[in-house]
Amino acid sequence: MDTKKPKSIIGIINRLQKGEKIACMDCGEGYYTTPASDVSLSREFRCNKCKSVVMVSPNIIVE
Ligand SMILES: [Zn+2]
Repeated sequence: MDTKKPKSIIGIINRLQKGEKIACMDCGEGYYTTPASDVSLSREFRCNKCKSVVMVSPNIIVE
C-alpha cells in the first residue's frame, strides 16, 4: 500500500472545506480558493495568485 501521501495536504483540505483561508504553500502570498459553490464538498482548491492546486488524492476517496 502506498502510505507516502503527505498528511498535511489532507489536513489543509479539511480546513479549507470548513471555510478557512489557507496561505498558498508554493508562493506564500495567495490563498486557496475553489470554484465550487459549496466549499465543504470541494476536493480541489487553487491558489488565487500562482494557480498552484491542492486536491484530495482520488485513491484516498476511492479504492
Ligand atoms: Zn500560490
